[in-house]
Amino acid sequence: MRVMAQMSMVMNLDKCIGCHTCSVTCKQAWTNRTGTEYVWFNNVETRPGQGYPRTYEDQEKWEGGWTLTKNGRLRLKAGGRLKNLMTIFASPKQPSIDEYYEPWTYDYENLTNAPLQEHTPVARPKSLLSGQDMNVTWSANWDDDLGGSPALAAADPVLAKISDKVKLEFEQTFMFYLPRICEHCLNPSCAASCPSGAIYKRSEDGIVLVDQDACRGWRKCVTGCPYKKVYFNHRTGKAEKCTFCFPRIEVGLPTVCSETCVGRLRYIGLVLYDADRVLEAASVTDERELLASQRSVFLDPNDPAVVREAEAAGIPRDWVEAAQRSPIWALINKYEVALPLHPEYRTMPMVWYIPPLSPVVDVVAETGEDAEDPGNLFAAIDTLRIPVEYLAELFTAGDTVPVTAVLKRLAAMRSYMRDLNMGRDADASIPASVG
Ligand code: SF4
Ligand code: SF4
Repeated sequence: MRVMAQMSMVMNLDKCIGCHTCSVTCKQAWTNRTGTEYVWFNNVETRPGQGYPRTYEDQEKWEGGWTLTKNGRLRLKAGGRLKNLMTIFASPKQPSIDEYYEPWTYDYENLTNAPLQEHTPVARPKSLLSGQDMNVTWSANWDDDLGGSPALAAADPVLAKISDKVKLEFEQTFMFYLPRICEHCLNPSCAASCPSGAIYKRSEDGIVLVDQDACRGWRKCVTGCPYKKVYFNHRTGKAEKCTFCFPRIEVGLPTVCSETCVGRLRYIGLVLYDADRVLEAASVTDERELLASQRSVFLDPNDPAVVREAEAAGIPRDWVEAAQRSPIWALINKYEVALPLHPEYRTMPMVWYIPPLSPVVDVVAETGEDAEDPGNLFAAIDTLRIPVEYLAELFTAGDTVPVTAVLKRLAAMRSYMRDLNMGRDADASIPASVG
C-alpha cells in the first residue's frame, strides 16, 4: 500500500439550480483576461445537451484519453508521445472555436446614442476577437432554450448512444444541470500526453497544474483530456486549466466555485488513496466493474492501519485528520451515493456526483398522486422523469444497477427526513432492501 492524499469534490446534482454563479465567480477570479475569453474552468452544462465544448463526450471524434490494449494495458488513444510529436501540427482532433463559441460583447453605445425612434434600440452582439458585428448562432447552454426537446436527442452524444432505450417525446422531456471543473484525475491523460512534460500532478494533494514556463503550446493536452478541460490561451500560446484554486486551498479557503455556490452543493475535502492500485483499477476490462474498482482505491481514513501507513508515507497528521473530517470518503465509499463522471474514460476522475432524484412520471399521469412520495419512488424507481439509463451513461458506463441503488438510497433519505419532520416513525417507512 502506498498512501497518498488527494483534493477532491462531490457535487449533489439535486441541488443545482443552474444559476452559473460558480462559473461567473471563477471567471472573474481566474480567466478574466485577454486570451481566455472563451475559457471556463468551471462551466455548468444543461443536460440533455451538447456539453462544453460541444460534443466533447463523442470520444471517437476527439480520440482523447486512455484506451485498453488487447491484454488489458492502458495506452493513450493519441498513440503516445512520439506519435504526438509527429502529428502535432496536423492533428485535426482539437475542438475549434466553433465547438466552444466565438466570445462576444454587445454594442452598448447603440443603446445610449441611438436617435429617438418608435422601437427600443438594441445592443447588437460584437465579436470580442475581431470587433466585428456577428450573428450568434450557438454558445454554451444554448440547449436551455430547447428544454430537453426531441431536437436534442441527436445532438447530445450520451442520448444518441441510448436512443433505442430512451425516446424523447415532449411529454417525457427532462432537464438538469451538470456543473464541471477539471477532474484532477488520479491517472491524468493530459499530463501523459504533454510532449514537454509541462503538466504535473502535485504529490502532496494531487492537484493537476500546467507549468507555464515549460508549456510549449503543443496543445496535445487539449486532445488528450477526454473531459476537454484544458484550454489554449491564444494570447500567451500556453495551455491553462482549473487549478482547484490552489492559492486559496493553501491558506485554508475553499475553491471560489464552492464558496459562492448558491445551492451549497459542492463538498470539498481530502481523501486518502492507495497509489499502487490506481493503474490496476483504471485497467479493469469489464466496464461494469469500473465503479467498484475505482471506489476500491480509496482508503478509510479512520482505519488505524491506514493512518499508520499515511504517517509512514510522510502525510502530515493534520492532513490525515482533515481526511477524517472530510465527507468525501463517506459519500463515495460508506454511503455509496456519489458516482464518478464517465469512469470509462479511465483517467480516475476525482470530482464525483450524487445523481439527481427526479419524480416518477407515470404516477402523476395515471393516479394524480404525489410523484415525489417515497412510497411511489420505491415502487417505480425505474420510471423516474430523468431516465436511469441516461444517468447510467453519465456515471456508471451504462450499468443501471448501481445508479438505481443510489436513487433508492436517496429516496429513503428523503422519506426518513419527511417522516422525521412530520413527527412520524421515520424508520418504519424505509424498506429493508434499501440498506
Ligand atoms: Fe487532466 Fe482532463 Fe483529468 Fe483535468 S480532467 S486532470 S485536464 S485529464
Ligand atoms: Fe449550480 Fe451552485 Fe453553480 Fe449555481 S453556483 S450553477 S447552484 S453549482
